[in-house]
Amino acid sequence: MQEIETLLGRQAVEDLDLEALELAVRQQVLQLAGAAVEQRLNADRGDERGSRTRCGCGQEARLVGRRSKQVQSVLGPLQLERAYYYCSSCGHGFCPRDGHLGIENTSLSPALTRMVGTVGAMVSFQEGSELLTELAGVAVDAKQVERTAEALGKQIAEDERHCTQPSHALALPQTLYLGMDGTGIPLRAEELVGRTGKQPDGSAKTGEVKLCTIWSAESLDEEGTPIRDEGSVTYSAALESACTLDTAAARSPFAQRVWREATRRRFCQAPRTAVLGDGALWIWNIADDQFPDATQIVDRYHAKQYLSDVGKALYGPTTPRASQWAERRKQELDTGRFRALLNAIRRQVPRSDEARRCLHYFQTNRERMRYPEFHAQGLCTSTGVVEAGCKVAIGTRLKRAGMHWTVQGSNAIIALRCSKLSGRFQDFWERRSERRAA
Ligand SMILES: [Zn+2]
Repeated sequence: MQEIETLLGRQAVEDLDLEALELAVRQQVLQLAGAAVEQRLNADRGDERGSRTRCGCGQEARLVGRRSKQVQSVLGPLQLERAYYYCSSCGHGFCPRDGHLGIENTSLSPALTRMVGTVGAMVSFQEGSELLTELAGVAVDAKQVERTAEALGKQIAEDERHCTQPSHALALPQTLYLGMDGTGIPLRAEELVGRTGKQPDGSAKTGEVKLCTIWSAESLDEEGTPIRDEGSVTYSAALESACTLDTAAARSPFAQRVWREATRRRFCQAPRTAVLGDGALWIWNIADDQFPDATQIVDRYHAKQYLSDVGKALYGPTTPRASQWAERRKQELDTGRFRALLNAIRRQVPRSDEARRCLHYFQTNRERMRYPEFHAQGLCTSTGVVEAGCKVAIGTRLKRAGMHWTVQGSNAIIALRCSKLSGRFQDFWERRSERRAA
């Protein structure tokens, strides 16, 4: 109360700048609280367990004295003093209290680390730093946001590989959908050496992130089309390979990721399952291998995109004839007149490579495009969930102007983001705290 009186002075409330007062008081309150916490922690010398304690190497470490460390917290900087032990056998020095407080190998407190994780998952490191200053009143520079968010993401990626217990948080629906897709992200030049890509000289500018998403869609709209259930979507993704050599006994890294995600979501226990993809071969290979009972469906949006592209290739990108041609084909697709559709594309093959590729695409994926049949069964065929998943989980965070990623850095941020978007961060955080306490 005194502090506030000092800040306000004798000025009348009518003359008050409330915004300035709010911000000044917040800063004062944080500082006071920080000083109180600092005093309380430093007064406790319970971390001096005698003059010797056991070192990780098995030998004894000797108490040297108390050492000070500056920790950034949500209350501002804290100057913490802790007992410091040194082991002359292995040359390792350590403060036992750092482990308990969760400040080992970091200068950020646990609550601030969590905040950094939140902004790092959602926006660029620079924007994250600005948000922390504006919203929380704490200063963490962009480089530190990057380091901390990446370290956290790395832990989440590690946790994801081991934590595959089936989750009962969501009830098992009648039908579960699993979608897979790939999307390119810009990589740093040194990460691209040896990668082949779509550049004219065969080199690459991007690496492909593969995404697996699982969701349910139990309710229907007026037209009887299933709508994605709120809160049912989970994501798992990484910049990793989906290819398995014929001779390799093990599944590809991405195939293993899909299996872990399916296990967590109890995908195979659902009475009915469907796998959606854009038609890429690796998607159906994984589906054939892991989910032989699932109905395979080519995302209708992708199929139609293909037809639009052929129309443009045939008649020019902006001509009415191009869209006319494509619209007729889309109608044939929607109403199951597949033979007419194939014939119409086949007629264009002599004049267009695009049409030849398209014909091949529709022939190979024919069984996966039985849309009227799927619709009658109440299956979703084009929810845009997979497409949107790539945009939401990957594109909006990793494909922004000026961004160039390392493989490690992007995988850490992708893991962090997927964890947040899938509502799994809290569980991870609790496991992390438990591990530390153990
Ligand atoms: Zn030692």
